[in-house]
Amino acid sequence: MGLAEIAPDVYLLRQPVLDVNATLIVGGEVAVVVDTLSTDAQAAQLRDAVRAVTALQLVLVNTHHHFDHCFGNNVLAADSPGCAIWAHEAAAAELRDHAARWQREWYDEWLPTHPDLARELAEVTVRPPDRTLHTESMMDIGGRVLELRHLGRGHTEGDLVVAVPDAPVLLAGDLVEEAGPPSFGDSFPIEWPETLAALLLSTAPGTTVVPGHGAPVDLDFVRAQHDELTALAWLIRDGHADGAPAEAVAAKAAYGPTVALTAVRRGYAELAGRL
Ligand SMILES: [Zn+2]
Repeated sequence: MGLAEIAPDVYLLRQPVLDVNATLIVGGEVAVVVDTLSTDAQAAQLRDAVRAVTALQLVLVNTHHHFDHCFGNNVLAADSPGCAIWAHEAAAAELRDHAARWQREWYDEWLPTHPDLARELAEVTVRPPDRTLHTESMMDIGGRVLELRHLGRGHTEGDLVVAVPDAPVLLAGDLVEEAGPPSFGDSFPIEWPETLAALLLSTAPGTTVVPGHGAPVDLDFVRAQHDELTALAWLIRDGHADGAPAEAVAAKAAYGPTVALTAVRRGYAELAGRL
């Protein structure tokens, strides 16, 4: 499993299990790995692929706290002593304070369909991010500057995007999904469209967007996903105003009943001020 260069000195690794993306950005002084995959074995493959490209000191970034984006931190950081790990403060807090609970939950969630993955993610030593940001941080990696931004809540409370303006590439994490529908388990469906609108406003035309899962997309794809999420948010608002059961609202939504029901329940909780 190798890295594909999608822009000058920007390399993408697509991990087939869950079709997760990890991205390497090589600067003049350090190399940045955005998202670190699910297990020690996957992270070791990623490390070897990174080391086939560059010997530079590594910096890690996690787009959010879900295991498939950060459970490789420990293996990758061990390869680069003094390696900093960046995330949004909310994502870092989840991994610092609740890692054991998340690890149990995810083990139970994935055991029926992906037993090997479940067992391996339960064995990971979770290494929380040690550098956090609230809204924005610039990272000079030697001859190129990365922009780390929290644009609002969406897929989770602590989503981070990484812009590489000179490429131009934007790493969107699970705020944008290509491999399947958006994932709503820890989401904020009412705020998500506004967060994507902020992403579209802050991204230059012609930028390649790397989703959390699946193939890179263009801004038209992101605009279409924004419009779908906007329609869903209004469906949820209307249902909430009418006192409609979540199941009835989900039946009208675009993403299929199971995915939509999760979204509607999260949206109702958001509108009720319970999130
Ligand atoms: Zn996620």
